[in-house]
Amino acid sequence: MSAGYNPFSIKRYCLLILLGIIFICPETLQANPKKPIFAKQKKTIVLDPGHGGHDKGALGSEGAFEKNVTLELARMVAAELENTYRVILTRTDDYFLNIPSRTSMANHAKADLFISIHAGGSFLHQASGITLYFFSEISESVLTPHTDPSKPLGRINHRSPWSDIQNRHQTSSKILAKFLLNCINEQTIFKKSEILGAPLKVLEGADMPAVCLEIGYITNPAEEKSLRDISVLSNIVQGIRNGIDDFFEKVP
Ligand SMILES: [Zn+2]
Repeated sequence: MSAGYNPFSIKRYCLLILLGIIFICPETLQANPKKPIFAKQKKTIVLDPGHGGHDKGALGSEGAFEKNVTLELARMVAAELENTYRVILTRTDDYFLNIPSRTSMANHAKADLFISIHAGGSFLHQASGITLYFFSEISESVLTPHTDPSKPLGRINHRSPWSDIQNRHQTSSKILAKFLLNCINEQTIFKKSEILGAPLKVLEGADMPAVCLEIGYITNPAEEKSLRDISVLSNIVQGIRNGIDDFFEKVP
């Protein structure tokens, strides 16, 4: 036998290590298959309050600015979601933010969802209701004016390299739109609601399911009043929350 080799002391050494592991970590012997090894990571949701700063968005006849309604609503949605989700606002106050910066914030945060919030404007005062847009290279709507970058721009004549990014998520964006609209309709009394595909700049570069939510028309006097009513906003918030929960529960 060579000097220094002692099988007895190696066995004793291993036994001591094993006893140490059991003593320090008794749960290693009581494996619970239901207990996840790592805590489940929170989903990340990026909320994008439309407009801001010198870009006031649509203007209501009673003086409400779209940029203020969208920020108020986004803050309320964030407060509702933040216990369950990681929530990021693209803008947190009244300042200008260009369109590409909004989606790039969502991409950098590796967001699971991107929701851009607007409160529509139309030259037609009777225009009303909720519209949820998903990205499509061909507009399905001609109702809204072209003054707002969140609005449909008509048919795209040349393909944008960015449009391929959101096209990959078109099916899940449509599903998200459906869940959101169903849940908002359960909570609110808007007479009209629809889902439309449109080549929206604010959605085209988003690398995750993404929708633009036009939550009523601020240019419609009755809806402007509703959008300044905190109880109406609270119901909208609850609808958005339920729609997001449904999306993550039902979409694998
Ligand atoms: Zn807008």
